[in-house]
Amino acid sequence: LKGKITTFHCRSNTPNPISYEVSSLEDLDRKICLAQEVYESKLWDNPLVRRSFFEHLTLQLIDRQADLMAIYCRESSLTEERFLREFSRMLHQIKVYEREGALRIEPLAAQSFNDRTLIKRLLPLGPIAVFGASNFPLAYGTLGGDTIGALASGCPVIVKGHPLHAGTSAFLAEIAEETLKCLGLPRGIFGHVLDDGFELGQKLIQDPRILGGAFTGSLVGGMSLFQLANQRKNPIPFFAEMGSLNPVIILDNVPNLEEQVNCLASAITEDAGQFCTKPGIILVPKEMFLKAQELLVQHFTAIPSHPMLHPSIYERYVSRLKEIEQHLTVNRFGEPIPWHGLSALVSLSLAEFLNLEPLHHEVFGPFTCLLSYEEPSQLKDLFRCIGGQLTVSFMGLNPENEPLWEFAQQYAGRMIVNGVPTGVLVERNMHHGGPFPSSTDARFSSVGEASLFRFLRPISVQKNY
Ligand code: NAP
Repeated sequence: LKGKITTFHCRSNTPNPISYEVSSLEDLDRKICLAQEVYESKLWDNPLVRRSFFEHLTLQLIDRQADLMAIYCRESSLTEERFLREFSRMLHQIKVYEREGALRIEPLAAQSFNDRTLIKRLLPLGPIAVFGASNFPLAYGTLGGDTIGALASGCPVIVKGHPLHAGTSAFLAEIAEETLKCLGLPRGIFGHVLDDGFELGQKLIQDPRILGGAFTGSLVGGMSLFQLANQRKNPIPFFAEMGSLNPVIILDNVPNLEEQVNCLASAITEDAGQFCTKPGIILVPKEMFLKAQELLVQHFTAIPSHPMLHPSIYERYVSRLKEIEQHLTVNRFGEPIPWHGLSALVSLSLAEFLNLEPLHHEVFGPFTCLLSYEEPSQLKDLFRCIGGQLTVSFMGLNPENEPLWEFAQQYAGRMIVNGVPTGVLVERNMHHGGPFPSSTDARFSSVGEASLFRFLRPISVQKNY
C-alpha cells in the first residue's frame, strides 16, 4: 500500500495485520518547529521537570509492558525472554541517564584571577534527530539510549522510527506523547515520524533547526546521513555507531580452547547473530586451527536456526553470503526454513583473507570467518586492513604478546580478555564506539553515562571586576 508501512513476522512467515501511516513533510516541519520552541523556552533545561517526565514514563512503560511485548515479538521475531532483557535495559537506561543529566547541569568550580572569574558548564546542544537500528527495537530504538541520552541532556528529540518495527516504534512514541500530555508538558519535547523511504530522514538531518544527530545502524546508512549533516550550511555533530567485525584473537596459551570456542559459537548464533558486537573474525594459531574448526562445526550443527528480524535483513544476509561464495566455499548449517538465518562459516588463512575484499566488512547475521595465522606479529596487517572496531578480544594473553595488545588498542573501542564481545553493559566505564569505520567519532560512547556528552556543549562565563 502506498503511504502505508506494513511489518512482517518472519517466525510464522506472515505479514502483520496492522499498517502504519507514513508521516507527511508538513508533519515533520511542525514537529521540528515545536522542538525548536521547547529548546528556546529552556523549560526542558530544568532537571526537576525532566525527572517527573522520566518517572512517569517508566510507570507507563511498566503498565503497558504486555502490549509492548506482543508487538515487539510480532515485528522482530525475537523471543519473550529477549524482550524482557531488553525491556529492563531500557528502564535502566532511563534511570541512570536521568541521574547523569541532572549532575551535568552543575558548573565546574569557579576559577578566580586578579581581574576576573571564570565559570564553565555544559549546555544542551539543541533539537536532536535520532535514527535507531532494527536489531534492538527497545535498547537502540525509539526510546533507546540515543533518545533517552539526548532528552536527559536537556535536548528535545525527533525520532525517525525504523519502518521494519513501525508498530513498536509508534507504540513507544504514543507512550512518550501521552506522558507529556498527562504532565502538561509541551509536545515539542519528543516528536516521532515514520517513513517508507529515506526522504523524511534526510530532510530531518538537513533541517537548519536540528542541531545534532545520533544514528545506530549500517555503515551505508550512517555515512550517508553523516555526509548530509556535514554538507549543511550550518554543519552539526552527527554521531553514527555502525557495524564492526569484532576480531577475536586466540593465542597459543588460551586457557581452555573448547570452552572459549563454545562461548564464541553461542555469541555468533544467538538471535541469528544480529548484534553489532558479534564476533565476525576468529584468528587461531595454525596448529590449533583444525580443532577450533571442528568445535565450531559441532556447535553450528547442533543449534537450531533462528528467524531473522525482518525480510530486508534476511535478504541482505543471503546476498552477502552469495557475494563471498564467488570467491570461496561458504559452509552453511541446518535445513533452510523461510526467513531463518542459517549459521555459516568460511575457513581460510589470514594471508588469503587480506586479499579478499568482500570479507573486510561486516556480514550481519550468524556468520564468521575462521582464520589461521603463523605467528602473532602477522596480526598487525589484519588491523591495518580492517580499520577501527567496536571491540577486539584476546583469548590467552602473556607478556610476549603485550606489543600486539598495545598495537590493537589503536583500532578498538573496547578490549576484552578471555571473553566474548557481545553483552554491552550500560555502565560508567563502558565505551561503545571506536575508530572509523565502527563509528564516526571515536571520542564518544553511545552507551553508558558518558554517552550524554554527545548532546552537551561547554560554555564559559567570564565576569570581570
Ligand atoms: P540501517 O538499515 O542502517 O537502518 C538504521 C536507520 O537508518 C533506519 O531508520 C533507516 O531507515 C535509516 N537509514 C538507513 N540508510 C539511510 C539513508 N541512506 N538515508 C536516510 N536514512 C537511512 O540499520 P539496520 O539494518 O536496522 O541495523 C543493523 C545494523 O546496525 C548492523 O550493521 C549493526 O551492526 C548496526 N548496529 C550498530 C550498533 C552500534 O552500537 N554500533 C548497535 C546495533 C546495531 P530505513 O529503514 O527507511 O532504511
